[in-house]
Parts: sequence; structure tokens; C-alpha cells
Amino acid sequence: MENITFAQRMKNIFKKYGYYFLLGALVFAVVLTLIIVGVSGSKDTPIVEDSTPVNTTVSPYLPVLNASIYKGYYGDELMYNATLKQWETHNGIDFTAASGSKVYSILDGVVKDVYSNVLEGQVVVVEHENGLVSTYGSLDENLNVKVGDSVNRGQQVGTISTTSTSEADAGAHLHFSLTDNGKKIDPASYLNIETK
Ligand SMILES: [Zn+2]
Repeated sequence: MENITFAQRMKNIFKKYGYYFLLGALVFAVVLTLIIVGVSGSKDTPIVEDSTPVNTTVSPYLPVLNASIYKGYYGDELMYNATLKQWETHNGIDFTAASGSKVYSILDGVVKDVYSNVLEGQVVVVEHENGLVSTYGSLDENLNVKVGDSVNRGQQVGTISTTSTSEADAGAHLHFSLTDNGKKIDPASYLNIETK
């Protein structure tokens, strides 16, 4: 009579059937992966939308005060650009205000980029928490920040100007846009303002 302990018995069972256990686990893992890939792959990721604010703990500061909205966010919809005389998308909001009006960072963050080109004019890009990035375009060349600076919510980053030649029809304005983890979102819903 053999005196096999429970552990030994389990070991024997595993020796005998272990292969099937492993195979089962492997098949399960593969099926699970296929399901996950299938689910995320079949979803047509919209380029725009998903206007759910990523940071709900702090309400954003308005990028410019006492401004009017010249042009809203059109996402993927085409709209006519009176300056370039062509149809194009508009990935932000154009705020018009007196030339020299202060432009503020909407939340705490770090200045990620500062650049200028003929079309967008002088631009400041600020990175915030949770993958939110705010971009301030058509600013005056004399900025209040440089790359790497930490900025607070409501801190001035620049002043409104006419440097964006592609939107010259707006006059002195701020072209303000937002991305949530690289995805364009409508700043109006984030800032909780009406654009229409
Ligand atoms: Zn614009």
C-alpha cells in the first residue's frame, strides 16, 4: 500500500494532466487577447468628440477675458476660411478681443513648446495633467513664458495679436485649441462656454 500524500497526489495529477492545463490556459489567453483586440479594433475611434473633460477637479480659467467668439470649433466639419478663401476644418476657438489683451493658461501646467510660423503666428503649447494640452495661437511675439516654464492656472502666457496670417479676417484674436491625449476636443465644452 502506498502512502501518498495529498501534495504528491496533486503532483502526479499535474504531471499527467499539466500539459492540458497549460494548453487550456494558453488557449484562454489567446481567446481573451482576440476578444480585447476585436472590441477595441472594431470601434471606429472618432478623431473629434469625446468632450468629457479629463480634469474635473479644477474648473479651467478662461484663456482670455472680455472676448467674443469669432469662430467656433468645427471638428471634422469643413468651414470657409475667408482669408485663405478655402474650406477647411477649424480645430479650435477664435476669441477676438482688443489687441494686447492678456492670454492666460487655463490650468496649471508646463510650457511644452513655443513656436511661430506664418500661418499660425506665435504659438504657445502648455501641457497639463492627465494628457490635456492647451494651445494658444496668434499671440504677440513678446511672450511671458518660455519652454520648460511652470505656469499656474490663470497665469499670463502672452497677449492677443494678429500674427496668424491664415486667420487675418479675425483681426486681433486668440486661436485656442485643446487635445486630450492627442485627440482634438471642443474647447467650448471644456471651458463650459457657448460658441453659437
Ligand atoms: Zn482659429
